[in-house]
Amino acid sequence: MSDWDPGAHPHAEIVWRDDGQPLSQAFDDVYFSSASGLEESRYVFLQQNRLAERWRELPPGARFAIGETGFGTGLNFLAAWQLWDQTAPADARLHFISVEKYPLRSRDLSRALSLWPELAPFSEQLLAAYPPLLASGVHRLLFGRVSLTLVIGEASGALQSLRLEDSARDRQVDAWFLDGFAPAKNPAMWSSDLFQEIATLSRPGASFATFTCAGLVKRGLQGVGFDIEKAPGFGHKREMLRGQLSAAPEAPTRFAYSTTPWHLPGRPGRVVRRVAVIGAGISGASVARALAQRGLQVSVFERGPHAGAGASGNDQGILYAKLSPKPGPNGDFNLHALLFALRYYREFCPEAFHACGMLQLAQDEKEAALQAQVAERLRHQDAGALARPVDAREASELAGLPLDFGGLYFPGSGWLEPRRVCESLLRHDRIQLYCDSGVDALEGGEDGWQLRVGTTNHSVDAVVVCSATGMAQFGETAALPLNPIRGQVSRAAAGEHSRRLAKVLCGEGYLTPAADDWHSFGATFKLRETATETRETEHRENLEMLEAMLPRVAREFAPQHLGGRAAVRAATPDYLPLAGPVPDWEALEESYAGLRRNRKQLIPRTTPYHPGLFVLGGLGSRGFTYAPLAAEAVTAWVTAEPMPLDSGLVRALHPARFAIRALGRNRRH
Ligand code: SAM
Repeated sequence: MSDWDPGAHPHAEIVWRDDGQPLSQAFDDVYFSSASGLEESRYVFLQQNRLAERWRELPPGARFAIGETGFGTGLNFLAAWQLWDQTAPADARLHFISVEKYPLRSRDLSRALSLWPELAPFSEQLLAAYPPLLASGVHRLLFGRVSLTLVIGEASGALQSLRLEDSARDRQVDAWFLDGFAPAKNPAMWSSDLFQEIATLSRPGASFATFTCAGLVKRGLQGVGFDIEKAPGFGHKREMLRGQLSAAPEAPTRFAYSTTPWHLPGRPGRVVRRVAVIGAGISGASVARALAQRGLQVSVFERGPHAGAGASGNDQGILYAKLSPKPGPNGDFNLHALLFALRYYREFCPEAFHACGMLQLAQDEKEAALQAQVAERLRHQDAGALARPVDAREASELAGLPLDFGGLYFPGSGWLEPRRVCESLLRHDRIQLYCDSGVDALEGGEDGWQLRVGTTNHSVDAVVVCSATGMAQFGETAALPLNPIRGQVSRAAAGEHSRRLAKVLCGEGYLTPAADDWHSFGATFKLRETATETRETEHRENLEMLEAMLPRVAREFAPQHLGGRAAVRAATPDYLPLAGPVPDWEALEESYAGLRRNRKQLIPRTTPYHPGLFVLGGLGSRGFTYAPLAAEAVTAWVTAEPMPLDSGLVRALHPARFAIRALGRNRRH
């Protein structure tokens, strides 16, 4: 689902009643009962789904998923989270997946949640993480052992966008909270398509509860296989519905594969407990952290002397994304990755994240025109907390230095200390980091994977290769299309003028505010070059770039006193990361040969993948922006958890995409 029409999901327009309760203007309906919303939520959704009993019985390390239609004020989510904390085993994980077409503005959310002081420890965390821009698509919010997957869009389309068309992966939901506004006021929310999606995403035996007793809802749910029971309603309401999925109906043909399901790997024949991550740059560190948080034991092998020694080893890294005014995988991923990364670094390594703000300058008319379109979209979405347009005067005030250009201002962004970020992500009880430990050989077998590291062997259940261009070293990953790109960053001692710079500046290149009285600026871009010595010529290029952005600062930086560092980043031909399972190329060519004749041919599922082998790479020069969300996706591949991305983006980041596209054009990969 990539529905970026700014008008497609306006914010909820709330009317505040005299008793302080929120009412939806569009639906003329309440978000929760005015008698006691929290008690109603607990009675209807928690008790009637028997959550306390079910959660007390969960085995250690279990996973439980709730699906909700209508996130609204998040009251149900918070009540469920509180109960989870009280009843579930300490190492169990709750996935709460909720869809919402009209998200509340954060100030409305804050006002609504202030009604429940008892939930304050939870609502404060939700408010701190609530995205500043509620764009269409999937937003993953992490709260320790609780993950919230908030999908913005029309309910049935939003649920559909989560489907990978693999019943074992798609049937995740154990309990449903059906909470759209009353069917009489909002029939669109209770459509037969929605009921079908609910069944398709339900585990066998999944339960549901809803406040309504409408015949339409009853028949709809029965039609997709739920057994229905009436229960006494809450307060003055007479009845409500609850029930269970008795039979998982065969997906009707229109819900069976709509395209060739080339993206689905086989399941490893064993439970995944131990995982090796190859590479301790930002990709490896964020994958390792996400896996460890799921309770897996993670060994990280790094060829260099410490974490963040390769392309992630500069002194300052910036959190930069390129927003697009139009729908499309690059713009969508950039936006969702940035939103996720902003929360992520605040949460996991605040000490290494300097959120001083970032100005994305429009240095020419083309960029100015593009930014104007992006700004128009942001205006519709009330997204000033993420980014807002500024003219040259305001940009200068923010930057602390006179600037000739306006641009987009990202108040929450800034720069990171790459090595500290990697090190703090890797500091976890279940992560073992091995430095000076290049993996020499990788071998897959029935029992998982063997890694040879010098004279030692390590056996694991799954491997995630995060070694950037180092992927070329292994037969399985060598064919992944990664281009090396040499980039040199220059460093200069701060001068009287440059020292006043308060924001990160990005334009043709970038310049960071001084840290320990040094600035970083750059970077050069040398496609398919792998040398890493620093070059005078590239310092000059960086100075020229700076000259065009901030001539006075460029003049202050004496060329003979520049330091710097060159490293090789890896990028894919479409500049999106590779995040997911690794194909067995020969098997893939063979399985999907039919696509050569007809690109649209529907070839039933085959599994031409190396079981238990995954990659995260090709992050180019946006490593710090892309890695956290891409790592969350790789983790979902490894653990078969719900994805943090819609299925369109899952495929857009999939390592086999280039091979599949090549087959469709009848070319060799
Ligand atoms: N569960 C919420 C809570 O805890 O605050 C209350 C939900 S409220 C009764 C119903 C929600 O459904 C509203 O937030 C509304 O915007 C949303 N909604 C209505 N129609 C929708 C649709 N077609 N698709 C997705 N969401 C919809």
